[in-house]
Amino acid sequence: MENKPIARKLRLLSQLMELHDANPFKIKSIANAAFKVDKLPFQVAGKNYAELEKIDGIGKSTAGKIIELLEKGTMTELDELIAQTPEGIVEMMGIKGIGPKKVGIIWKELGIENIGELFYACNENRLVEAKGFGLKTQEDIRKVIEFNMASHGKFLYAKVEQQANDFLQQLKDIFPDALLEFAGEFRRRSEIIDKLVVVLGSRDEETAFTTLKQSDVVTDVQTDKNHVTGKLEGGLAVDIVCVEKRYYYQELFTQTGDDEHVNAILSRTADTIDQPESEELIYKKAGAAYILPELREGTTFIERAENNELPVLISHHDLKGTLHNHSTWSDGINTVEEMAIYCRDEMHLEYLGMCDHSKSAFYAKGLSIERVLQQHEEIDHLNKKLNGFHIFKGIESDILYDGSLDYPDEILQRFDFIVASVHSILKMDEAKATSRLITAIENPYTTILGHPTGRLLLSRKGYPIDYKKVIDACAANNVVIEINANPLRLDLDWRWHQYALEKGVWLSINPDAHRKEGFHDMYYGLLVARKGGLYKERCLNALSLPEIKAFFDKK
Ligand SMILES: [Zn+2]
Ligand SMILES: [Zn+2]
Repeated sequence: MENKPIARKLRLLSQLMELHDANPFKIKSIANAAFKVDKLPFQVAGKNYAELEKIDGIGKSTAGKIIELLEKGTMTELDELIAQTPEGIVEMMGIKGIGPKKVGIIWKELGIENIGELFYACNENRLVEAKGFGLKTQEDIRKVIEFNMASHGKFLYAKVEQQANDFLQQLKDIFPDALLEFAGEFRRRSEIIDKLVVVLGSRDEETAFTTLKQSDVVTDVQTDKNHVTGKLEGGLAVDIVCVEKRYYYQELFTQTGDDEHVNAILSRTADTIDQPESEELIYKKAGAAYILPELREGTTFIERAENNELPVLISHHDLKGTLHNHSTWSDGINTVEEMAIYCRDEMHLEYLGMCDHSKSAFYAKGLSIERVLQQHEEIDHLNKKLNGFHIFKGIESDILYDGSLDYPDEILQRFDFIVASVHSILKMDEAKATSRLITAIENPYTTILGHPTGRLLLSRKGYPIDYKKVIDACAANNVVIEINANPLRLDLDWRWHQYALEKGVWLSINPDAHRKEGFHDMYYGLLVARKGGLYKERCLNALSLPEIKAFFDKK
């Protein structure tokens, strides 16, 4: 064993000892030894106990630990501490810039147990007020985590959208006469992107090739047949497919849909279409209406395209209001009034649903019953002065471990609507998680089921649920399902939207905004809702103000 991994284990040991409040002198001596071992000009492997003990800065007890590590590959003391610490917390120790003290606060005071939750908390501004943190530390931590996520080569759609659009524009500047369009998962608006595919139709394929290789748009440039691949700044992989102009639409079609979709359409075009002049023509030959790129996953929409029954997908101007948002009453950073005015004047919406956290969410300053009543007074007052714009009194009520909601009935009935969400004890098996959700869905006060799986894309898997059972329960109890529009969540997953719609369940595109700019996340919710095939007639926040008032009253 080399010195480095030994030093790393000793360092982790000292960090975990500190996290678990061990004797400060012991912590210090292990930390020193870790530093020392890392810097030694010779290998410690091969030395015996007596030799190790004599090395300046190592001493008896650490020498024993190193011997144990060299002989058995583990250190009992380290293993014991690891067993007492959530896996995600141990992982957090590896993040540059947060030492054991800060990790301790994150874990014990903020109730955060893994890096995904920590990233989310940074985005929600939750670290700023914790002891020893501040805006700068929060920002530093966010950047390091973001960097680690990027190093796996996968990116949130929202994170690369701007860069991708700029890239396409650069290509258009280089090849003003070429046909150019995104294809692949980016054009299909997948929530996670691991490769940006662009189809380039140029009369002169060869020149296109050479120009790309020589330009500084892409780094690590490689060529393979008619593909130019490389990386954009930040690490996103790109694949530029170069074809002669006459093959452009055929190639664009092939590169856009997933394999199942492309093959299903091609098998319906009786004879091969030579050099089609548009993608529409390919679908026409297949006897189907044109299918938008975001719907080209599998065969879900093909039959409907054949019968000319494709849904008219929901669009930006259909959205009339926004539900599920936070203010300074809990963990948001703008007041209710600031949120409302922004919604009215910048977002041009008719209503705002406030849903601050409920009392169990102690880490997010959840509202006591007394504070709920005070907030309601404030909202009544604001509604009088907002000139027809309306604020609904909502709450994001924690779903407790047994599935019950967080307030007694006499308080629950005072709200206009209730979003019920799970925020704690996320480790459950499928049966437990499903029955916990169903109990909450069956509560007569639940209006919307919030972020149904609790997932954080690229960083935390949600708890496993039986989607069909949960959706069926929502149908039976007239509960709306949220499409949480935060780009890290996008939960309910679009793959289940069709099933929900078939069952007659309404969906709601909720930004879960914790500041006024957060309302713009509705755009990402809209993209996945379109991908799932949502149309305005089944979208709760596409209802106008009088319609949604009636909807809430009926409930
Ligand atoms: Zn929530
Ligand atoms: Zn929320």
